[in-house]
Amino acid sequence: MDCVFCQLVQEGTAHWVAREADTCAFTPLNPLAPGHTLVIPTSHFTDVFEVPPHVLTASMTLVQRVATAMRTALDASGVNILSASGPGSEQSVPHLHFHVVPRWVDDGISTWPSGQSRRRLTGDPGTRLAAALNRDHKPHHGM
Ligand SMILES: [Zn+2]
Repeated sequence: MDCVFCQLVQEGTAHWVAREADTCAFTPLNPLAPGHTLVIPTSHFTDVFEVPPHVLTASMTLVQRVATAMRTALDASGVNILSASGPGSEQSVPHLHFHVVPRWVDDGISTWPSGQSRRRLTGDPGTRLAAALNRDHKPHHGM
C-alpha cells in the first residue's frame, strides 16, 4: 500500500483526534499551529472529484466538530479549513484531506494562498459554473 494516510489508518499509528467509520482526524507531524488537525475519509479517495457525497458529508461534519472543539478546548478565535484537489492545486498527499488550522488574533501565520492567479478565462466564470451545475443536476421532469 503506497498511500501514507491509508497506512496510518491501517496501522493505527497516528495521533488520533477522532476515528469513525467513514472519516477520521489526526494531528500531523509538522503542524502549522498547535492543534492543527487533518480530517480524511477513512477509505481511500484521491480527491474531491471522486469521494462519494455521503463520505464527504461525514468528513465535513467532522471538520465542523473539530473546528468547534478548537474554540472550546484550545481557545482559538477562528479556524482555516484548507483542501486541495487535482493538478495545479498543490495537493501534497493524494488522499483527500482537510486541514483544520486553529487561529488566534495576531498569531503570525498566513495559511491562505497568496497573490492572485494569472489565469484568465473567456466569458463570465460564475455564469459558466452556473450553466455546468444546472447541466449536471437536472431537475426531475415529473409532469
Ligand atoms: Zn489513501
